[in-house]
Amino acid sequence: MKRNIHAKRLFGTNGVRGIVGKEITPELVLHIGEAFGSMRPGRIAVGRDTRTSGETLILALKSGLLATGCDVVDCGILPTPALQFLVKEEFDGGAMITASHNPPEYNGVKIIEPDGTEMSDEETILLEQRLFDKSFALKPWNKVGREASAPDLIDHYINAIVGHFPPNIGKGMLVAVDPGSGPACLTTPKILKKLGCRVMTVNGVMNGTFPGRLPEPSMEGLKALSSLVVSSGTSFGVAHDGDADRAVFVDENGVYIEENQEFALVAQYLCQQQKGIVVTPVSTSQLVEAVVAAKKNCSVTYTKVGSIYVARTMHSLMNEGKKVVFGGEGNGGLIFPDHQFCRDGGMTAAMMVSILSKTKKPLSGLVACLPKRFMIKDKIATPDAQKVVKRLEQKFPHDRIDLTDGVKITRNSTSALIRASGTEPLIRIIVESDQRDHAESLFQELMKRVSECLKTTTKQKKR
Ligand code: MG
Repeated sequence: MKRNIHAKRLFGTNGVRGIVGKEITPELVLHIGEAFGSMRPGRIAVGRDTRTSGETLILALKSGLLATGCDVVDCGILPTPALQFLVKEEFDGGAMITASHNPPEYNGVKIIEPDGTEMSDEETILLEQRLFDKSFALKPWNKVGREASAPDLIDHYINAIVGHFPPNIGKGMLVAVDPGSGPACLTTPKILKKLGCRVMTVNGVMNGTFPGRLPEPSMEGLKALSSLVVSSGTSFGVAHDGDADRAVFVDENGVYIEENQEFALVAQYLCQQQKGIVVTPVSTSQLVEAVVAAKKNCSVTYTKVGSIYVARTMHSLMNEGKKVVFGGEGNGGLIFPDHQFCRDGGMTAAMMVSILSKTKKPLSGLVACLPKRFMIKDKIATPDAQKVVKRLEQKFPHDRIDLTDGVKITRNSTSALIRASGTEPLIRIIVESDQRDHAESLFQELMKRVSECLKTTTKQKKR
């Protein structure tokens, strides 16, 4: 069979991920190290999250990098954005052993470019080609790399975040932190204390079995955080996913803040301070557009779904001389361009302290002031997701259609996004409106059209 060399086969939008011992083996990670080292010879920083399999996999990764002549600096356990920051500041590349929000049995590798961003699709395809062809530039005995350990470099990241805010901005604030037994145990409590906050933690001891909750900071998993917030009277609670590039919040009453509302709050605050562009994927709620467009000389630019597309768009807009204020996704993954071009959970936690300190309002009050949106989310399992989404393009001739990622239909103040999932055989649907009945009516119409497209696709297959 002819291999399609133009598509990624192993890496997804956030690196390689899978179940340890099945999809993710030391052998695979060794080869990733060899492939990456062959492409980016130089000083490479590596790190990992707290997963139990991290130790074996990072040894394999380092072995591959050293064999291709790279000098490796092992930064130990740290959040993904901390490693990205360090790479941007002082390395020729980086690789992180992490499976982010996936359950404990998963692990993976994320490759970081010298500018601190994740590797682009084009470069990843080249890396995969090397991997599959076993085309590695292995060095002889006198040219292999050297390894050094630098667990203290994490402090550079902590201090850089603290340096973005006025001294003691969090003075008098009590904050509850749930690092989820992940690497943020080492960073977020420290960052907030350095900003002047008093900090309480839950799941604050690193443990790769994740005894308190799963690495995904879901509403269900954050009950302990909510209880701590309520019983201790903290100003808010913040929780991270397994590698702390995302941050989600509960308000002072222990109520979970929906992540699009979180994004909108930060966007609103930053657009008050500066004028410019906010960058986000088409999947983010219109709420963001509503609060940004309300500020003079501020606008939203949309990208494909995936933080790497947001980061790269922010970068290229700035290279064109445009002012980019902020970016990120409606899942708690926020990007602050003055800091770095990747999602950063620690920076997001610090920003929330700054927002509450400057506005002098409770978090629940800030959320209550946001415009109301009604959202319906659904998914349909089908092996023909791509084909069905393609057919839908023609089905709404009277509406505004955007094909940035999947099909986005806009009808007055109601919109619907239909996308084929990048990781599973299913179609994802998000409909939202400022009026509940409008959202429901477009959703029903959409489901009818999807079912028509599914039937046509199945019929064609049978022929
Ligand atoms: Mg993550």
